[in-house]
Amino acid sequence: MPPKTETIKKWHQLSYLCAHCRACTVGDYHKLGRVMNNCPSGTYFGHEAFYSYGKMELVRGLNEDIITQPTKALLDVVYACTLCGSCSVNCKDHSGLGYRAEDTVKIMEDLRAYLAEIGWGPLPVQAKYGESVRTNHNPYYEPSEKRTAWANGSKYPRKAETLYFVGCTASYRQQMIAQSTVQIFKKLGIEFALLGEDEWCCGSPLLRTGQRKLAEEVAKHNVDVIKDSGAKRVVTSCAGCYKTLKLDYPKMFGLKPEFEIMTTADLLDSLLREEKLRFSRPLNLHVTYHDPCHSGRHVSIYLPELEKEKVFEPPRNVLKALPGVKLTEMPRNRELSWCCGAGGGAKSAYPDWAIWTATERLKEAQETGAQAIVSTCPFCRRNLSDAVEASKTPLQVYDLTELVAQAL
Ligand code: SF4
Ligand code: SF4
Repeated sequence: MPPKTETIKKWHQLSYLCAHCRACTVGDYHKLGRVMNNCPSGTYFGHEAFYSYGKMELVRGLNEDIITQPTKALLDVVYACTLCGSCSVNCKDHSGLGYRAEDTVKIMEDLRAYLAEIGWGPLPVQAKYGESVRTNHNPYYEPSEKRTAWANGSKYPRKAETLYFVGCTASYRQQMIAQSTVQIFKKLGIEFALLGEDEWCCGSPLLRTGQRKLAEEVAKHNVDVIKDSGAKRVVTSCAGCYKTLKLDYPKMFGLKPEFEIMTTADLLDSLLREEKLRFSRPLNLHVTYHDPCHSGRHVSIYLPELEKEKVFEPPRNVLKALPGVKLTEMPRNRELSWCCGAGGGAKSAYPDWAIWTATERLKEAQETGAQAIVSTCPFCRRNLSDAVEASKTPLQVYDLTELVAQAL
């Protein structure tokens, strides 16, 4: 029998509170006006075990020595989940059984951390990118010294009140986002610093796959170098970096940053309200907006109803202010957003499923009549773009910063 650790023991009682009511399988009917799936895992794999309540049964089974072997079926149920948090929102809304709103994701992350503790996890491809974070400080097996290759030789200071935390995906895989962001800073006269090679992976891919020891090491490093930069505010391109720095560093590692952490959308929205962001070029584009899970419901879930708009409105305010841009919402928006499919280690471990999930989102985007789907996360942008290519869907994919940079 695998040993029990606190990581799994602490959820034993709570696993009984799941009523198997299935409310977490569809988005809130009363808000959506129709039945729409909201769990990419259960919907795609088509078995009850893949929904949130299946994972709760695993927690019970592991605690009660019913599960004794790391079978492929077990590992698939644990890791074929984007940790999108849609089930948390719907469980909170419907179960009334004592789960605090964020608990389903917390339980699933602890389940993965427990499997790592007993040597059953993470999956080999996830362990491999963990090794890359250890040696290269990014999960993409890219050399650390190429971290600022996107800047094409331009040099930026290491110290400033505003620090741009670029993140691994915008640094190595979606460089147009880093380039657009810096273009905006320059155009608006915002002095900013970059950490260069001293910016390490924020640790999000590690935390989502149970690799907590290494995540703590990179977190400590990042907080130290950010402190040294003298930054009062840290701006992130990536929803995963944002959630990790803002919520996970203090909650999981007791690292309480002495700086404000904001998304690029938050920054642009505040500049708009201060009338420092003005546009000169019309874009003539019909768009829809995709809420990233990590900077969306993962944050809003901690807030009372009336404060949730702080999370969801900034990117929308900026889109609405762009000249010539028409915004039409998809039915599943804000807290009820359908995940892009990339997160939680899914894109590396289950690439076909990741593309299917994104393709579902593209279909929903197309139904709005929009020409483009816009997001505020490089990982969403990447997976949605990959799905456009795979499915030959005639839809453009942008990060908000790309449109803003074009309109300045
Ligand atoms: S909504 Fe909550 S209580 Fe109901 S089945 Fe899902 S996880 Fe269990
Ligand atoms: S986190 Fe998302 S993918 Fe995972 S079980 Fe919940 S709704 Fe499904």
